[in-house]
Amino acid sequence: MKRLLALIICILAILTLSGCGGEKMADDGKISIVATAFPHYDFARQITKGVENVEIKMLISPGSEVHSYEPTPSDILAISECDLFIYTGGESDTWVKNVLESAGNEDMKVISFMDICGGEKHEEAHEGHEHTYDEHVWTSPKNVELIVTKIASALSEIDKAHEKEYNKNLLDYTRKLQLAELHQTFKRIFEECVRNEIVVADRFPFYHLAEEYGFEYVSAYSGCSSSTEPSAQVISELANKVKEENVKYVFTIEFSNQKIANSVIEGTDAEILTLHSCHNVSKEDFENGITYYDLMMQNAANLRKALCE
Ligand SMILES: [Zn+2]
Repeated sequence: MKRLLALIICILAILTLSGCGGEKMADDGKISIVATAFPHYDFARQITKGVENVEIKMLISPGSEVHSYEPTPSDILAISECDLFIYTGGESDTWVKNVLESAGNEDMKVISFMDICGGEKHEEAHEGHEHTYDEHVWTSPKNVELIVTKIASALSEIDKAHEKEYNKNLLDYTRKLQLAELHQTFKRIFEECVRNEIVVADRFPFYHLAEEYGFEYVSAYSGCSSSTEPSAQVISELANKVKEENVKYVFTIEFSNQKIANSVIEGTDAEILTLHSCHNVSKEDFENGITYYDLMMQNAANLRKALCE
């Protein structure tokens, strides 16, 4: 009996020493954050600014196609060992549930954008298009405010010692500097410009932006799906609109081959502008440290061009 007890104590000791009890933070003192894509990465970066010993890993590499991403074994390992995991929780993230279940890391905090910003399906008809739900909730700066607040409070719980820094960063990012300015910039565009509708010859992952600021749009695809080519009829409808209404600017999203846009503006003087969904950025932009704020300010400048000029 005594021997059995000794054996159990021995096994428990080994388990504790090997870190199965979630002693990881004490091991290396680092706070490790795993973010699935660029917005998740950038928001974590803003809130941890100036805090030492924070490591943020972005799973989807810059320039790659986000919607077909699948985690590699080393990604799964990184997720299972992290302190904070941040993901969207939409249709392109269905792999997450299994990975989190098998990770079995009870100390890990998990933030899902869709849980924070509400993921109800929007099935309204919009300009004749059936509009399905849009997981790109961050295209509204108001949603980002909710998201970063959640990130700051999760980090304060994980790393009490730097609670002050996280809260200060949150305040800087939301009120003093970036999000408030973005919100005002977008609001002014739709208050000041004469036109209120844009033509997007591409996918449309901007439901939340349009909803927040109340602008109209016609797009080649409803939502973000790229599984099918738009019909010839849709393309000719957009082309007719550009001609008849003398539309000067037509939008595509990032990494577009602009094929649809080129046929839509054919025979007119219209120009192509980019509306960036921020879902991923090019390798070059990433290395230059581009942020969500930078991309959204570019979006605002392009929207102003299309609606005010
Ligand atoms: Zn997307």
